[in-house]
Amino acid sequence: MGRNVRVNGHMTAAVLYGKEDVKIERVPIPRVGDGEALIKVHVALTCGTDLKVYQRGYHARMIVPPALFGHELAGTIEELGPHVRGFKKGQRVVALNSAPCGMCFYCSKHQENLCEDLLFNNGAYAEYIRIPKRIVEANMLAVPPDVSYEEAAMVEPLACVLRGLHETGVEIGDTVTVIGGGPIGMMFMQVAKLTGCNVIAVVKRDGQVEGAKRIGADEIVQITKVSDTVDAVRALTSDRRGSDVVVECVGRPEAWEWAIDMVRKGGTVNFFGGCANGTKVSLDTQRLHYSEVTLKATFHHTPETVRRAFALIAERKIRGNDYITGEAPLSSLQHVLRHMLNRNGDIKTAIIPGH
Ligand SMILES: [Zn+2]
Ligand SMILES: [Zn+2]
Repeated sequence: MGRNVRVNGHMTAAVLYGKEDVKIERVPIPRVGDGEALIKVHVALTCGTDLKVYQRGYHARMIVPPALFGHELAGTIEELGPHVRGFKKGQRVVALNSAPCGMCFYCSKHQENLCEDLLFNNGAYAEYIRIPKRIVEANMLAVPPDVSYEEAAMVEPLACVLRGLHETGVEIGDTVTVIGGGPIGMMFMQVAKLTGCNVIAVVKRDGQVEGAKRIGADEIVQITKVSDTVDAVRALTSDRRGSDVVVECVGRPEAWEWAIDMVRKGGTVNFFGGCANGTKVSLDTQRLHYSEVTLKATFHHTPETVRRAFALIAERKIRGNDYITGEAPLSSLQHVLRHMLNRNGDIKTAIIPGH
């Protein structure tokens, strides 16, 4: 294994060139410098963000093509640069896709996700990935033997979700409506259930109805089966007053507008799904003002939510089986992404490099 790295010097990796353009290529194995780590990727998970990036050809903050692609991964440490402390070769780890600087205005306000110098790392769809020093120090975690690589790799989206739900200020007994039945939407539903909330799932496809049922959503509104989605959600709340909290996990302007119309007086909306560049929504100013609706948006994770998410996975409160619906070799990544864009009921696919 280690010998291979030195002899060949190359690896198979996915390179994103632009809109719906990903190629599997032979590229040099990254070299590790001071404080860095080289991870042999055992599994990389597909993610809604990757699908969006694949479809749009860009991401506002995370990746600028051409670039190595993919950001949810777990594997073993292949090589460590000088001065890495607390890790050893061969150790099972999960490395996050970013780390904050820890020194800027936002970091000092405990809003590390908004860090002025948030360092992103992509390249999970590859045999090896280099982990920069800052991520090694802040956001690389050892994986216990009884946690699979697949489950460990779910820490990134789950950390975003934990932070998102926390920011809405949910309380036990609240009704939480989640719009969107992708992996993020499902994680919101499940974490809201774990928090003791009533969950209304608003989903589109049959497979998503099944998924929402499986993780314990209390009520499910399938938008293709109702004439008015907002009305259908309101009808499920006492006195049709609306949901205490609504989380939008689709990233479409019309769903953002639904979210505002579904929330109760004094309730909170979280626009979690990022829409395409240049998108606008219209707001009913009367309703916002006289109903005291709180509008929030949350983006990304912090080192603290990463650790809380990892604990939930290690405690088996969130299980891989509920989210990872398939497995495919790295060579068929483009096919997998296309297939997932056609929305066939897959939630997350485990991409296995080295095949
Ligand atoms: Zn992700
Ligand atoms: Zn910072």
